[in-house]
Amino acid sequence: MAPPSSPPLVDNSDAERRLREAEERLRDAIEELQRRQRRAAAHAQQHRHVDSLPCDHGPDESCVAHAIGNLCQTFLLSYGVRVGIGILLRAFKLVRGQSYSSLLDLKQLVSEKDLIVREEACRIGLLFGGFTGSYHALRCLLRKLRKKETPANAVLAGSIAGFSIMALNDSNRRRTLALYLLARLAQCAYNSAKSKNKFHLWGSHWRHGDSLLFALACAQVMYAFVMRPESLPKSYQDFIQKTGPVAEPVYKAVRDSCRGHPVDVASLHAYLSRVGRSDYVKLEEFPSIIPCSIIHPATNSCLAHQGNATSLTFKKTFPLYFSLTFVPFVVLHLQKFTDAPFRTFWLAIKGAVRSTTFLSAFVGIFQGVICSHRKVFSRDHKLVYWIAGGIAALSVLLEKKARRGELALYVLPRAVDSLWYILVNRHLLPNIRNAEKPWPHFFEA
Ligand SMILES: [Zn+2]
Ligand SMILES: [Zn+2]
Repeated sequence: MAPPSSPPLVDNSDAERRLREAEERLRDAIEELQRRQRRAAAHAQQHRHVDSLPCDHGPDESCVAHAIGNLCQTFLLSYGVRVGIGILLRAFKLVRGQSYSSLLDLKQLVSEKDLIVREEACRIGLLFGGFTGSYHALRCLLRKLRKKETPANAVLAGSIAGFSIMALNDSNRRRTLALYLLARLAQCAYNSAKSKNKFHLWGSHWRHGDSLLFALACAQVMYAFVMRPESLPKSYQDFIQKTGPVAEPVYKAVRDSCRGHPVDVASLHAYLSRVGRSDYVKLEEFPSIIPCSIIHPATNSCLAHQGNATSLTFKKTFPLYFSLTFVPFVVLHLQKFTDAPFRTFWLAIKGAVRSTTFLSAFVGIFQGVICSHRKVFSRDHKLVYWIAGGIAALSVLLEKKARRGELALYVLPRAVDSLWYILVNRHLLPNIRNAEKPWPHFFEA
């Protein structure tokens, strides 16, 4: 049986052919149009006058007004964020002191005596405000001077505006920020090269590449903290010391025993009698390993110690993380916050719980690896602390995927800096740190 649709089939193929022809003509026309547009653009580029190259802030605003507007707005926002974090941390402190009524007392909450953030807030405002203000001013200037707009303009303006880092008074913080910004810049350059298929790092397409990088960086930092604390800046040492549960004299004893040096028995004894456990712990000058009874004298059970360490870290760091997620959001997105205050509050709590859980798990796992080593081996080795740091860093898997790369980028410069210091110290690398590197030296001054 012949299909009833055979004559339309012929029509169909005819229509198809015509459609194809029309399509081809259309494609030719579009290509011709694009060619003309490109020619016109190239022509305009060649004959462009100084005045006719428009700034991206539009013609109704002068370049100076644009730069000053940016400076003021950024200054106020960053000042607000810093003061807001200070107030919230003060409120947490009052709550912990059980003085709930004082929360309503403005004098106690924001008085100059207790809230010493004004100078720092000004410096941070000047840092970020100065950066954005001079960045926009420089870009307008370069656009006018060079009569063209290239990525080089943005890089040059950014590098010069980077001098606003001088607004920070602490040289260590300047160095930390400079390292962080360098890592960011390297990441931008790398991403751009990767997207253009110019070059990409072996392993960068792995699913957990960022977590691996974070683990390597943490291994180095935790090793440095135990064995080479002088290779980390003081603020870093203080942060790790305060977050973890083990006392400073104990770390020193571990360090000495790993290196085969005599342990400072007197200061260790003083520490143990301070916590009330000097009675039965026998101290030697050359122990093969510092035992659990000295690392956690408060309890005999390793499991209880790890549980305590984890929950204590949670309690200590939650206020900070909550303030760090909540305040910037409120200040930067005031409109969104007033639209949905409870939702914002809830999201901030969720984010802070997640980040605090990650940090607490880090501390718990680190202690766990150290205790487990003592259960199996009777000798200590300095690499135990490197490995413990790397394993503990796997807790970063509790964080959001996007945060993991950011955290890796935050710790990596510190780890490289510390490794560099140790290698120079062992004469494996020549010491060019202070002699031939002009700019890090400049930030250190
Ligand atoms: Zn301009
Ligand atoms: Zn233990």
